Amino acid sequence: MSTPTHTDRESLQAEDAVDALASFRGRFSLPEGLIYLDGNSLGPLPRGAAERAAEVINNEWGQGLIRSWNTSGWFEMPSRLGDKLSKLIGGKDGETVVTDTTSLNLFKALASAVRIQQQEAPSRRVILTERDNFPTDIYIAEGISDFLNSVNAETNEHYEVRLIDENLSLEQALDGSVAVLALSHVNYRTGAMWDMGAVTAAAHEAGALVIWDLAHAAGAVPVDLNGANADYAVGCTYKYLNGGPGSPAFIWVNARHQGRFWQPLTGWWSHAAPFAMADNYTAANDVRRFLCGTQPITSMAMVECGLDVSLDADMDLVRAKSLALADVFIALVRERCGEFGLELVTPENHAERGSHVSFRHPEGYAIIQALIDRDVIGDYREPEVLRFGLTPLYLSYTDIWDAVEILRDILETRAWDVPAFRTRHAVT
Ligand SMILES: *Cc1c(COP(=O)(O)O)cnc(C)c1O
Repeated sequence: MSTPTHTDRESLQAEDAVDALASFRGRFSLPEGLIYLDGNSLGPLPRGAAERAAEVINNEWGQGLIRSWNTSGWFEMPSRLGDKLSKLIGGKDGETVVTDTTSLNLFKALASAVRIQQQEAPSRRVILTERDNFPTDIYIAEGISDFLNSVNAETNEHYEVRLIDENLSLEQALDGSVAVLALSHVNYRTGAMWDMGAVTAAAHEAGALVIWDLAHAAGAVPVDLNGANADYAVGCTYKYLNGGPGSPAFIWVNARHQGRFWQPLTGWWSHAAPFAMADNYTAANDVRRFLCGTQPITSMAMVECGLDVSLDADMDLVRAKSLALADVFIALVRERCGEFGLELVTPENHAERGSHVSFRHPEGYAIIQALIDRDVIGDYREPEVLRFGLTPLYLSYTDIWDAVEILRDILETRAWDVPAFRTRHAVT
């Protein structure tokens, strides 16, 4: 599959007719007539998930009650789903658990990496991330750093968060003081993608450990954590993995750290023998060390429905179609909406982008509201960014054509220019 060279609607329809991933559209339940360009924020409902939810609630909970922890595999679910998810991110069995939220998992991964460095290179006290990272990633890094500093207030051992930005490149920032480098593989706003292999190698060369946030990468682009020799990774399941609103996140740790890593949320689910009810903590000797407490089983069961769809898809085909959809989208916006001042903020080079495309426009918020009103769902991110997720499993080339035609109409008629579309909702 390569990028269609003709971008008229008939040619794109012909492209859809030979699309090897076309049948995956039927694996999702999407409203008729809607063009959903927000699967990077909340994936759609996989077919069968509602039935699975009813089964978990009515039978496993309703009938099985407490027995279901054993008889329905509830207790094993974080590891069993972790092994499934591992296949999508270049992990091995036993390296991933599905649990908690991305924010919480990032806290655990950062604490774990910092602790390893405290033992091996205690003078390294910088957590390096980037100003353009998703806010929670920066906030959690600040939280860990503040906490370590409050505990060590009497000493000079101050931790700090350092931010890569237009004034400080990754190369400049990666000096001998960096304990951990924590980056998002694909940038949530611009769609820009780091070269995981090269960045991980550079960080290791500089003596730092590396944590990758795969929130906008897992299920969207091929990821090879072991190939890159990364240290830790975290990510969401409700975005490209279609696990449902607020579904539990995941955390991966390279097997080489498993015997020695520690994390501070030492709840009983991370204990070597939770039901021994011991009065002291002994960590599990594997990735279950990253668990904390009792998991949201109904929500976790939904994660599996989404994972099973992604596991059936050939990731190389997914990537090829994602790039082609994005190329067509960019070309059509240029061609059809060129005079309306949309500025592309996503890198055009294939190797440097993930699976969403963003444009900047001063009236971005109102334009997105007008699109949603016409059943084309994208989203808006500050500042002025219109964001469009291009998800190969349920989008066609003609969807892209139709979405751009509606966008063109909205821009041409200034349909966005009404007070109703300027009112900010709590979630943008
Ligand atoms: C979506 C996203 C998150 C979300 O974290 P939650 O704890 O699930 O709210 C975190 N990091 C990145 C990079 C994201 O894109």
